[in-house]
Amino acid sequence: MTATTAPDIEKIRAKFPVLHQKVNGKPLIYFDNAATNQKPQQVIDALVNYYSGYNANIHRGIHTLAERATKAFETTRRSMQKFVNAASEEEIIFTRGVTESINLVAATYGRAFFNAGDEVIISGLEHHSNIVPWQMICDEKKATLKVIPVFNNGEIDFDAFKKLLSPKTKLVAINHASNSLGTINPVKEIISEAHAFGAVVLIDGAQAAAHLTIDVQELDCDFYCISSHKMYGPTGAGILYGKKEILQTMPPYMGGGEMIKEVTFAKTTYNDLPYKFEAGTPNIADVIALNEAVNFINDLGKDVIAAHEHELLSYFVEKAAGIPGIKWIGTSASKVAVQSFVIEGIHHFDIGQMLDARGVAVRTGHHCTQPLMDRFGIEGTVRASFSIYNTKEEIDSMVDALNRVVNFMKP
Ligand code: PMP
Repeated sequence: MTATTAPDIEKIRAKFPVLHQKVNGKPLIYFDNAATNQKPQQVIDALVNYYSGYNANIHRGIHTLAERATKAFETTRRSMQKFVNAASEEEIIFTRGVTESINLVAATYGRAFFNAGDEVIISGLEHHSNIVPWQMICDEKKATLKVIPVFNNGEIDFDAFKKLLSPKTKLVAINHASNSLGTINPVKEIISEAHAFGAVVLIDGAQAAAHLTIDVQELDCDFYCISSHKMYGPTGAGILYGKKEILQTMPPYMGGGEMIKEVTFAKTTYNDLPYKFEAGTPNIADVIALNEAVNFINDLGKDVIAAHEHELLSYFVEKAAGIPGIKWIGTSASKVAVQSFVIEGIHHFDIGQMLDARGVAVRTGHHCTQPLMDRFGIEGTVRASFSIYNTKEEIDSMVDALNRVVNFMKP
């Protein structure tokens, strides 16, 4: 399928069993895709097939089921390698998701290489999981956390970022796309500026994986983090991509089985990449099913997915513009299909609850970006986020529901 072929949304919707239900007596309209998106049948089938057909622990067994499970698990590693265009499978480490991937880097790279007086730069757009691990390691190492300011439209101040960079900068951590505002960050330029100062760069790709083409070699990023559950895959799985030469210099994260070569009470030697960072029994079923999520995305094409989502985003912004008191939070020209808003005089929780009563699922609150909400002087927003299976008719229903909310709440 190419970008010029409009996808058959009804055919796509048929692949997602969860969508075909009523919530509070109304057909479910799922606009909380930035929190987690829904799973196609092929992903669900992969989970069932593993547990009902070849459940076994991986890597250590020589029996048939263990070999099947290991093969399926390692197939996903190769798929994810291709998905981000990494140079080698050794650069793909399975984690529970972006949160664990970032914590892994902070706890190993940060612990090994940060010193007192060093600086770490993040942006004002970050999710708590790309803030707190850096605060923790900076506290421990007496390093300083610096924050790139955010403009009113939700874009980062690139000039301010350049001024923050210095020989003290050890690492820059920034999202590819913001979960609260949808802003797509100029990560390639950020990486090249940071590298000029010898800093390494970690990209939080949680909101990019299902929508944007990711080419870690082209970006030249040092680390890239992905959560399976935000790209049609199961929860509890994800990857950390890291450049091999950097991963090799990092100490292990957790100790245990699988990450070792040899253990004696006197000394332990560690396994090769990527297993050095994969202690213990991993989330086998979910990693195996992630491969089907990759297949689902590849079969459609990310350009097709992104084009449909953008159409929905533009349609929503156009249709909802007339709602009395609505104010957009996040109006960058370059966005994924995420739209935050507030409505004057109505609490975002009330809006969320009233939409839920009409079967519409949106996210309300601070979206794990409290400092960003502070920056806009608000406690939270209503966030609608669109996916390939959403339709314009669903947006019409939400806009209608929002108009009813405003009328109902009128003094
Ligand atoms: N970063 C961003 C931008 C996110 O949207 C999320 C999930 N909301 C995370 C990090 C954390 O991802 P996870 O909970 O899958 O570890």
